Amino acid sequence: MALMPVAEALTAVLANIEPRPEELVALDAAHHRVLARDIAALRTQPPQAMSAMDGYAVRSADATRAGVRLAVVGEVAAGQPFEGQVGIGQAARIFTGGVIPAGTDAVIIQEDVRAEGDGIILQEPAIAGRHIRAAGIDFREGDVLLKRGLSLSDRHLSLAAAMNHPELPVHERPKVALLATGDELVMPGSTPGPGQIVYSNGYALRALARAQGAEVVDLGIAVDTLDSTRDGIRRARESGADILVTSGGASVGDHDFVKVALEAEGVAMDFWKIAMRPGKPMMHGQLGSMRVLGLPGNPVSSYVCALLFLVPLIRALSGRQEVNLVHETARLGRDIGANDDREDYQRAFLHRDSKGELIATPVNSQDSSLLANLAIAGALVVRPPFAKAASAGSLCEIVRLPD
Ligand code: AMP
Ligand code: MG
Repeated sequence: MALMPVAEALTAVLANIEPRPEELVALDAAHHRVLARDIAALRTQPPQAMSAMDGYAVRSADATRAGVRLAVVGEVAAGQPFEGQVGIGQAARIFTGGVIPAGTDAVIIQEDVRAEGDGIILQEPAIAGRHIRAAGIDFREGDVLLKRGLSLSDRHLSLAAAMNHPELPVHERPKVALLATGDELVMPGSTPGPGQIVYSNGYALRALARAQGAEVVDLGIAVDTLDSTRDGIRRARESGADILVTSGGASVGDHDFVKVALEAEGVAMDFWKIAMRPGKPMMHGQLGSMRVLGLPGNPVSSYVCALLFLVPLIRALSGRQEVNLVHETARLGRDIGANDDREDYQRAFLHRDSKGELIATPVNSQDSSLLANLAIAGALVVRPPFAKAASAGSLCEIVRLPD
């Protein structure tokens, strides 16, 4: 099978996705969840004209110049409207958030009047409409302010509350099952024997998936046998996972069982090699409703493939409108060579120069086993297949790495 271009592989991964069903959750639980429906305001905000300042509500026609005396006939505080009418030559004491009393059309701030007995002497004329928030200046009942497919930010939650929604319909979280493979892997904190490697991939993959809103099931580490790998795939199905992510065992070595095990379990394989670096051996297939991403084992490859394919897949299953990673432009911090036939994702440091321009400097060694430079890189520089050599200062495309 020929290597599949990255864009084509991503299109295949995202084809025919049904977002997870919806559920109602309380506002506090809705942070970073994806709205399943358009949400309209249940009320107008502010519901009536309100004062923006502490001062006096007046009739602008009476209050045209300094020195005018007005009788104060009532008081309005937030939540305590004045029931009466303010007549000619009268004013009402008012505080921020108070409803503008009938008869008045301006607020004069308390710093611009002098209190005298049961009246006030204006120091400044009033201006019609001044310091008044008209009804509905924020939004009106029925306005659709939150659209389905939106990932809810902290500010969206306050807006939904002001719209009078105590809970919101969101898509259920997709479930991601993670299966590592490798006879050589031991858990962090143990004493590795000769040739053993400390298992690390799962930590970044689980955190990445959770940060995208997925629920994660950890299926542990399968040893490099067909049986153990098949057993892991079966456990993924039993867990009800929407996505099975495997790491390692994806190549064509004698100890790589993921592809045969997936096929033996009935996975319809979509592709298993893509034209990218790092991460050529990456598989995608489907088993019933469970999607499978077979990631390479090298730590950088597994992470970069997860960023490129797992993140958009989780977003799509979550019902998000925007699933693609944001690509930005930066300037290269050093010269780089011509590219071959694989789309290249080079770890790079990111900084702003003295002119404020974003500079991406690819790290010197791009070996796919090097976690230390992945951990401190700020972005991946994306190099299309057959890109020509590029010199420091020229424009390049980047994808930021998550904080
Ligand atoms: P594989 O794709 O299984 O051939 O693995 C490629 C390389 O990645 C090997 O050096 C493995 O030891 C290493 N590797 C595979 N899985 C993990 C893991 N979960 N954590 C750290 N290293 C891994
Ligand atoms: Mg292996």
